[in-house]
Amino acid sequence: MAGLSGKQRAVDIAAASEQLVPSQLPPAKSGPGPGHKVRDPSRCALSHVNEPDARFCSTCGLPMNAQAPPLARPDQDRPKPAAELTGEERAERERAHQHALAVAAQFEHAAEVIVPPAAEAVLLHFIEDGLTAFGRVWYRGQELAIGPDHPRWAEAVSWVTLTRMQQYERWGKAYFEHGPWPGQRSYVDPAAQFEQLAPVGGQGKLPGPSEEELRRADAAEAARGRGVPAPVLR
Ligand SMILES: [Zn+2]
Repeated sequence: MAGLSGKQRAVDIAAASEQLVPSQLPPAKSGPGPGHKVRDPSRCALSHVNEPDARFCSTCGLPMNAQAPPLARPDQDRPKPAAELTGEERAERERAHQHALAVAAQFEHAAEVIVPPAAEAVLLHFIEDGLTAFGRVWYRGQELAIGPDHPRWAEAVSWVTLTRMQQYERWGKAYFEHGPWPGQRSYVDPAAQFEQLAPVGGQGKLPGPSEEELRRADAAEAARGRGVPAPVLR
């Protein structure tokens, strides 16, 4: 560039910067899907107002970058009719029902206090078995709703708003999704007969749960609702 030495070059800053940064923003990348609204950055996922540079909500403790999950709403309480379930959903329902039997037994032997969700709560349903939280193991098909009023909210804030991708990053798989469980929620509904369980080897049949066991399982989960157990005081 020897020819330019010693000379002033008049540069049109605006034009030059146009070459670096297009004047129009590119179309939004695959970003948030439908149903995700862009949130005011000074509000947490539960809409509490905070200082603009806050990292955690001063009201509920959620990380300020947590995505807003759908909140628990009573009108989301309609399970899909059994006839509309896919094969996968039927399999999920079967697992959930086996688990509920265990829940029923647990429910009968432990004086567990369930705290029902308050109006402000994050609703989620498990899509995989085995996440341990709030002193119990959660299974596919179960729902819970928990909000800042719950005595165990401090345990919840670090994970209940994680997206599927964030769950993969933390646990190697996604255990839950937000919103209500789309499948069957009753184990004794005559419209939702469970198939006979076959042993792993494929020979013979396992005895299915009795009607009475199913009723107890239903009662246990109905009693819990979407509630989360209170801390056990010993
Ligand atoms: Zn908050």
